[in-house]
Amino acid sequence: MDISIVVPLYNEAESLPELADWIRRVMEELGFSYEIIFVDDGSTDTSFKIIRELSQANPSIKGIRFSRNYGKSPALNTGFQAAQGDVVITMDADLQDSPDEIPELYRMIKEEGYDLVSGWKKKRYDPLSKTIPTKLFNATARKVSGIKNLHDFNCGLKAYRHQVVKNIEVYGDMHRYIPYLAKNAGFRKIGEKEVKHRARKYGHTKFGLDRFVNGYLDLGTLWFQTKFGVKPMHIFGLLGSFMFLVGFLAVLAVIILKIVSMCNPDFHFYLTKSVYFYLSLASMIMGLQFFLTGFMGELIIRNSAERNDYKIAERI
Ligand code: UDP
Ligand code: MG
Repeated sequence: MDISIVVPLYNEAESLPELADWIRRVMEELGFSYEIIFVDDGSTDTSFKIIRELSQANPSIKGIRFSRNYGKSPALNTGFQAAQGDVVITMDADLQDSPDEIPELYRMIKEEGYDLVSGWKKKRYDPLSKTIPTKLFNATARKVSGIKNLHDFNCGLKAYRHQVVKNIEVYGDMHRYIPYLAKNAGFRKIGEKEVKHRARKYGHTKFGLDRFVNGYLDLGTLWFQTKFGVKPMHIFGLLGSFMFLVGFLAVLAVIILKIVSMCNPDFHFYLTKSVYFYLSLASMIMGLQFFLTGFMGELIIRNSAERNDYKIAERI
């Protein structure tokens, strides 16, 4: 099979027939063998009924329905597990992404050898409250992930080489950082294609402004996991040692001041009024906590499947 098109959706009933029809037209024009996998993320409208009807009319259309709304990431992950095509395309269900982009995305993966090509909505048809924070968000994501050539990490329209989707796990709200996940799994040829974007035709956006807060928190988590995921002691041990050093110096200052006060009757030293006393207490306790966190992290890693989870590219 040439192409799998994975479409996560939540209450998008109005858009589905038009989208399915448009994708079919593009696929048939170019003679691709394809499947469309609609992943219904627990819709409460008639979305799945429509998917069932579409699938009866066109056997290339498949549907998976979640028992409740889990989120876009779980929906994508489930679509990725099911996908059979050599190239896997993801797109939103709301008709903001154009199926006309699919052939060129496919060509870039097949002929130019990209592992992942992300759409770039250069001209966006979204409210300013979304486009401005998005610019900031993408700048941070570029910096943290080291993927310097991407303008639009979270574009719903993306193309992947088959092996990429089988080697990454999208969970939580990590769909915003799939290129980062792919890079971590060793897929380094990541490109971009300018794509046409349209305003939402039916319904309304499923994400609120909390997307930006959550987006930044997730980026921090991913950065931490990438750097210290299987060696948490390397960071917590370092921080703990630093705090112990500060504590040690503060204790030293306390001792010196005490000795000076004993030798010099004019100099009074009250332990409980000394800033060094409190500094030594606080930093020793913090140091201990860092070390305990590090040890706990190491114990958790020892029992986790991640500790020796390497992606093997080839064997001879
Ligand atoms: N979506 C989903 N589960 C959710 C929220 C959204 O599957 O919990 C789907 C949604 O139906 C759409 C895509 O993810 O197909 C992108 O969502 P939306 O268009 O609301 O996001 P925006 O374009 O505003 O970023
Ligand atoms: Mg949308």
